Amino acid sequence: MRLLFLSTSVGPLGTGLGGGVELTLYNVALEMLRRQHQLTILAPMNSQMGNLPIVEVAGELQVPAQTQDRDVPVIMAGNSVLVNMCEYARKVQSEYDLIVNFAYDWLPCFLTRFYNIPIAHVISMGSLSQAMDTIVGEIVQEFPGTIGVCTKVQAETFTFAKDCKVLGSGIDLSLYNYCETPENQLAWVARIAPEKGLEDAVAAAQILGIPLKIFGKIQDQEYWEKILRDYPDAPIEYVGFLSTTALQAQLGKCRGMLMTPRWVEAFGNVAIEALACGVPVIAYRRGGPIEIVRDGETGFLVEPDSVDALVDAINNLDKINRYYCRKQAEEEYSLPAWGDRMEQWFKNILTADKRR
Ligand code: UDP
Repeated sequence: MRLLFLSTSVGPLGTGLGGGVELTLYNVALEMLRRQHQLTILAPMNSQMGNLPIVEVAGELQVPAQTQDRDVPVIMAGNSVLVNMCEYARKVQSEYDLIVNFAYDWLPCFLTRFYNIPIAHVISMGSLSQAMDTIVGEIVQEFPGTIGVCTKVQAETFTFAKDCKVLGSGIDLSLYNYCETPENQLAWVARIAPEKGLEDAVAAAQILGIPLKIFGKIQDQEYWEKILRDYPDAPIEYVGFLSTTALQAQLGKCRGMLMTPRWVEAFGNVAIEALACGVPVIAYRRGGPIEIVRDGETGFLVEPDSVDALVDAINNLDKINRYYCRKQAEEEYSLPAWGDRMEQWFKNILTADKRR
């Protein structure tokens, strides 16, 4: 297949601004190249990801949907990178079989009707915006099978849940080393933004006096500074936004990873990255982690928004056999297995497309 990937338009690839979509796109790209498909990636200026074939497109970044109210109208900057990527795709479409859209945005969904080649939409978040819900709902009726999501619980945030293709996720397990003997410290890995609920993890670490290492891009500086003001004595260390290699080396040495999302996490790439290192995941029983964590076996699913429940689970971490965590990652989240599902999804869309 000749594939044209449309990256997220909220940040350059490699910066972390795009959240889990960056790793998702990277892994699908690697796997499709390994399978000898042709690939070009359209992404904002200053994108960089290994040796991937990226065409950098100029223009203003899109505002992330999760930072806006549900009912805001669709807004495009005068010189929008999303518009420019879509226009580029329109011009070169005859050289490709399929566009794979990773942008959680109205425009590429709407344009599905106007391109001459089909589009597979990888929807990376749950329902957040009325405009997006409406257009995706229409597209899934007109082009059945073209809307892909990560989990069932994510799909269920939309009225058209039954029409979504649930694809899961996968990672290159060879990049993550299993660590059997951690140090007495915890990890929290995510974009630092209100929907990730970092303050609860900090509060739990403070109650127990266990060091908490924080990894991830600071997306909301004010939110981060408020946490520092509210918990001046918490045993926390901000490590930064690390490469996968550096992240897994440090993450593996943690006794557990805390996932404290306030929103319905679509998946939670970090959960499978932790498991791959042998690190149990303690997560709120909400969104994607519900379908990942085996409660009591590879981590704990606890009452959402309860710091006490986090504390209880941390106190029980020693009951988890870290080897089971690694084993679950190997059984359920290998890159080739996920690649099979993605490749089959692309093929099905090509076969069903009536324009060809
Ligand atoms: N991440 C990273 N380095 C870090 C911290 C996080 O590369 O130091 C990546 C992590 O690998 C994951 C992403 O950031 O792919 C966070 O994605 P997730 O799906 O967990 O949440 P999202 O940000 O998409 O809501």
